[in-house]
Amino acid sequence: MPLVESGATSYYVPTVTPPSPSPSRVALVRCADYDSERVHAAVGRGLDLLGGANLFVASGERLLLKPNLLVGSAPEKLVTTHPAVFRAVIRHFAAAGAELSYGDSPAFGGTTGASRRSGLTEIADQEGIPQADFGESRTVSFPDGGLIKQFTVVSAALDTDGIISLPKMKTHGLTRITGAVKNQFGCIPGLLKGEFHARMQNVDRFAQMLVDLNRLLRPRLYIMDGVMAMEGNGPRGGDPRQMSVLLFSTDPVALDTVVCRLVDLNPTLVPTITYGEAFGLGTASDIELVGDPLTSFVDKDFVVDRAPGSSTGGPGRLSRLTKNYVVPRPVIDAALCTACGTCVRICPVEPKAVDFRDGYDWAEDNLANDRPPVHDYDLCIRCYCCQELCPENAITIRKPLLGRIIHRS
Ligand code: SF4
Ligand code: SF4
Repeated sequence: MPLVESGATSYYVPTVTPPSPSPSRVALVRCADYDSERVHAAVGRGLDLLGGANLFVASGERLLLKPNLLVGSAPEKLVTTHPAVFRAVIRHFAAAGAELSYGDSPAFGGTTGASRRSGLTEIADQEGIPQADFGESRTVSFPDGGLIKQFTVVSAALDTDGIISLPKMKTHGLTRITGAVKNQFGCIPGLLKGEFHARMQNVDRFAQMLVDLNRLLRPRLYIMDGVMAMEGNGPRGGDPRQMSVLLFSTDPVALDTVVCRLVDLNPTLVPTITYGEAFGLGTASDIELVGDPLTSFVDKDFVVDRAPGSSTGGPGRLSRLTKNYVVPRPVIDAALCTACGTCVRICPVEPKAVDFRDGYDWAEDNLANDRPPVHDYDLCIRCYCCQELCPENAITIRKPLLGRIIHRS
């Protein structure tokens, strides 16, 4: 895609506008499990319902597949896009003549390790597609940004002809669900993600940033893996929930809205949907459903935070009292904590809002410290990165007593 040079940064100009039928079409396709043949057929059906793979790519064009690789995690943990979905997408778009690559910038660790542990490298090697270089990035101007006018993005996401986004259906501490809109956060280079959390100390601003990022990158198509979803303490430590569905759309706001309807969550509680509609990324109301009936997938027992007003978002400029007595906070279960230090490393604020009380010598990698770290809730901005990435599922988000009372009333 062309970049128009302008001083220190560049203007990013997408060459292809994704097909955007009105109303926005979302295809739902039943898929009972990750059997390779079944997933292949289901992905083919979903693409056909939107007009076929050839609608999204011309022969010889370069497509970047962007799975959810939050961290390297075995497929059965349901943290990442399943390899069977990844393989099916590769095969359908390769048959349409696309030159494919894939990649993501995980929240923790490198792309190569995360991809290998999640089972995607093996599939990519078998199918003969290269991993894109997610180590290079550059800064581009985005004058149309509603909030963010300049992004630093991995070059692989800028230099491709188009992106196919492959989100995973999961809950999320900050935005309630992690979906199609949020999946592009992985196009921000590793360490800069924490910087965004530190800068956007409010869930509304964070959501606006995610919407702008999607408006900048404009993936051509979103295919969500909801065959086995994650409920509860997602996006890493939640529990499996069979939803048996794959979702397809060119509109990430419409797709995420449909996900809300599947799990009986009011879409207005998801800030990426609210601001996605407000900033013109997509629609939450003008949606055409095709494929299998939505009602056949609805699961009202899916565990997700449905409480109105109990936003688990960052507190912004809220007073210390409000922050500490109303806004949900991350809490460590000492019985589960292995003192691995991941939460301390990932915490984006300085000084750290979660740390080992006696200090921790990273230079010596002093893992002799076997006591759990401790949160300082005055410093904590409630970004929930520590909850998101704790490998032991030892951190949950809890509402303080006053917050529980207010949110019930
Ligand atoms: S990431 Fe989880 S297991 Fe590791 S130190 Fe923090 S709370 Fe303990
Ligand atoms: S302690 Fe956790 S929730 Fe608080 S700022 Fe650090 S990473 Fe974010």
